[in-house]
Amino acid sequence: MPTDAIVLAAGAGERLGSAVPKAFAALSGVPIVVRAVRGVAAGGADRIVVVVGPDRLAEAAAVVDAPDGVALSIVAGGGSRVESTRLGLACLQGDPADVVIVHDAARPLAAAETFRTAVAAVRAGADGATAALPAADTIAFVDGRLITEIPTRSRLARIQTPQAFRRDVLTRAHEAAAAADDATATDDCGLVLRYVPGARIAWVQGDERNLKITTRLDLELATRLLAQFEGDDGAGSRSSSRSSSGT
Ligand code: C5P
Repeated sequence: MPTDAIVLAAGAGERLGSAVPKAFAALSGVPIVVRAVRGVAAGGADRIVVVVGPDRLAEAAAVVDAPDGVALSIVAGGGSRVESTRLGLACLQGDPADVVIVHDAARPLAAAETFRTAVAAVRAGADGATAALPAADTIAFVDGRLITEIPTRSRLARIQTPQAFRRDVLTRAHEAAAAADDATATDDCGLVLRYVPGARIAWVQGDERNLKITTRLDLELATRLLAQFEGDDGAGSRSSSRSSSGT
């Protein structure tokens, strides 16, 4: 059964303070998006669409690679994450029951096992699945500087990517969001839950090391983690079969 994947790399990433968009900033000498695509391929994707800013198409074509046997294409994204996902999804026609992975390039350290676990959850019958971690912090709803509610922590999880969906479910959610002119969702699980009533989204074990690079500090932490992986197995990537549950 083929597995498609969308790698989202069209964000500006202004909080990183880099001269180039975040996905093209170097992480230990290799652009973040290049590492993310290699990770998705190691996680089992057969066809990968990389979504980049319209002004970055040529640069992406020059630097992004995929292993033999993995079909790679690069398309221009939109002004929001939702729009970028929709534009990537439009390039991936196929069987409605096949699995489509959605992954943020901003998480270049995702382990191969995390992709495989999320895909397996969908193949086992879920409409979608996301990597997630139980919340260790207490989380609040706020209104400006006021705390308005503290939800019960044991019912909260921190959502990561990769996420995986049945193609028909993800397509339906994006069609409905486009019809409603709604680009506010910050991830695809949220979009599916909003627009596909009754959809069942599972969560699978995420990984603290699958951090989202947002700030300069995150980039430094990711650099150190990579050095640690290199020390562990000499591969310098998370594409081995190492367990992803080291939280
Ligand atoms: O900024 P945010 O946290 O929403 O970004 C998550 C991911 O979505 C990043 O990998 C970013 O490159 C991507 N993105 C995108 N198109 C946008 C905005 C974000 O592909 N317009």
